[in-house]
Amino acid sequence: MNPIIAANWKMNLTIDKGLVLIDEVLDCSSPDDSEIIFFPTSIALGSVSNKLKNTGYGVGVQNIHHKESGAFTGEISAQMLQSLAVEYAIIGHSERRHYFLETDIQINGKTQNALNQGLCPIVCIGETLEQRETGKTFEVLKKQLVSACKDIGPEPEKFIVAYEPVWAIGTGKSASTDQVHDAHKYINATLNALFEKHIPILYGGSVNAENASELYAVENVDGFLIGGASLNAKSFCQIIQNVTKNIKRSL
Ligand code: PEP
Repeated sequence: MNPIIAANWKMNLTIDKGLVLIDEVLDCSSPDDSEIIFFPTSIALGSVSNKLKNTGYGVGVQNIHHKESGAFTGEISAQMLQSLAVEYAIIGHSERRHYFLETDIQINGKTQNALNQGLCPIVCIGETLEQRETGKTFEVLKKQLVSACKDIGPEPEKFIVAYEPVWAIGTGKSASTDQVHDAHKYINATLNALFEKHIPILYGGSVNAENASELYAVENVDGFLIGGASLNAKSFCQIIQNVTKNIKRSL
């Protein structure tokens, strides 16, 4: 399968600056050898979606609400994204879990809503530094994964998991290839017990142009979820190029 390279812009870039960045990324990449997905701020979704129509590049939302509709001021439901041709939703990002106190139950609701509306959820899981240092990494990954996947059938139409160790996000300190290997192997085995189809696993956490090749070479790494380095065309293009020259055709 082609590598999945997802750009999480978080609360960065104006609509205009985002559109300029997309132009630069379109110039340096091809949708034929990678699945590149942009996750702009919600107010930019319409413009980004229009720009990417029929290009083969994807658009996703950074968050959706766990309920279908109702009195939730300021929130966006999965259903509302239908008319914008949004195809993906990041769910349970660690910033949402920590700053907005999202619970595993809410994350499961978001995942179900995404699937019900034909969106591909990218469910983020990952341990804190304290959890890693006290030997709880696998326990945390399993708990987050199993609860996010509750009541989801064995063959979801589309489903992606992102392993994002909290201590590696935005810190400039990526997980080592050994740590990524062990976590992805564990997540893959857990997913194999839950689902009857292959679920791609992305790595996220301080991916940059220098470490992308070696991290992508790790078994069970199907691509990346990228924050900081996706905000700059030069670094994002370099990552895309480093990954696509080593595509794992056997997957
Ligand atoms: C992220 O926020 O999902 C992320 C991986 O950020 P960064 O690449 O900046 O570590």
